Amino acid sequence: MGEQRGERHGGAPKVRLINYTPRPLETVTWAALISYWKEWSSDSFENVNRKDVEEHLPRILSYGHESILEHVTLTFSIEGISRVCSHQLVRHRIASYTQQSQRYIKLDVDDVEGTFVIPESVRGEPELYGKWRELMRKAIELYEESCRAGVHQEDARFILPQAVRTSIVVTMNLRELKHFFGLRLCERAQWEIREVAWKMLEELVRNDDLRPIVRWAKLGPRCVQLGYCPEGKLMPQGCLKRTKERWNELVKRHERHGYDG
Ligand SMILES: Cc1cc2nc3c(=O)[nH]c(=O)nc-3n(C[C@H](O)[C@H](O)[C@H](O)COP(=O)(O)OP(=O)(O)OC[C@H]3O[C@@H](n4cnc5c(N)ncnc54)[C@H](O)[C@@H]3O)c2cc1C
Repeated sequence: MGEQRGERHGGAPKVRLINYTPRPLETVTWAALISYWKEWSSDSFENVNRKDVEEHLPRILSYGHESILEHVTLTFSIEGISRVCSHQLVRHRIASYTQQSQRYIKLDVDDVEGTFVIPESVRGEPELYGKWRELMRKAIELYEESCRAGVHQEDARFILPQAVRTSIVVTMNLRELKHFFGLRLCERAQWEIREVAWKMLEELVRNDDLRPIVRWAKLGPRCVQLGYCPEGKLMPQGCLKRTKERWNELVKRHERHGYDG
């Protein structure tokens, strides 16, 4: 099996953009204009319109003045990922997280598939897959048996594999999200967190208030941001073209005439 990597079979994670700073493009533009407009004032915020946004924001972002992106935050809910994935997510430090507690919530035991994420690479090996399922079934049984015996779930959870599903709420500002996308939309990222990152990006491009900034600020993998791949020899073959095309195709699919520029 060697380096074979998985994709999810069923039970894909559910990713939703729950909330974000109101009038995000206007907020970023208005904040940026304090540097350039002598007549800038707090009152001018209400007057910033889409024309101002189109006139100033793409240009300012093209200079690489990215601190203005920090004035917009976005909150996502991510459901049904493994703890392997959530651990990678929370390594991104300039963000806020709240995760389902294994101390306060007793694991809602489903069947093996509902309780755990099993990679496609394992599913492709029937004998191995059977062994995984058996081990996971036993882990669930022992977890339940421990709880029944009076062991608190905060201790019973020690028996659970990292594959156990979890849900998490994450809030990031747009600048950190760009950094996150740079690393995690890349084919070098592990498949599950990559899947989550692409779903987060899709939430942005589906949203009329946010879609234009995806292109203007290059909210994409690092090959899109930089125009080349910094991974050099580590880059999987053909990945540069594939990843750029995937990003372009996703953004284009949701772009409409007019405001998107
Ligand atoms: C392909 C891949 C493989 C990986 N493999 C491993 C691995 O084998 N082992 C492992 O431990 N991790 C691994 N990671 C995780 C990686 O090391 C980072 O922890 C993770 O990607 C978070 O990114 P970050 O630290 O750049 O940024 P974030 O935490 O998102 O922070 C954003 C940026 O803020 C700045 N920053 C944040 N905190 C500080 C600070 N304290 N001091 C100075 N600057 C700061 C940095 O510029 C940083 O890039 C891997 C990640 C990827 C994408």
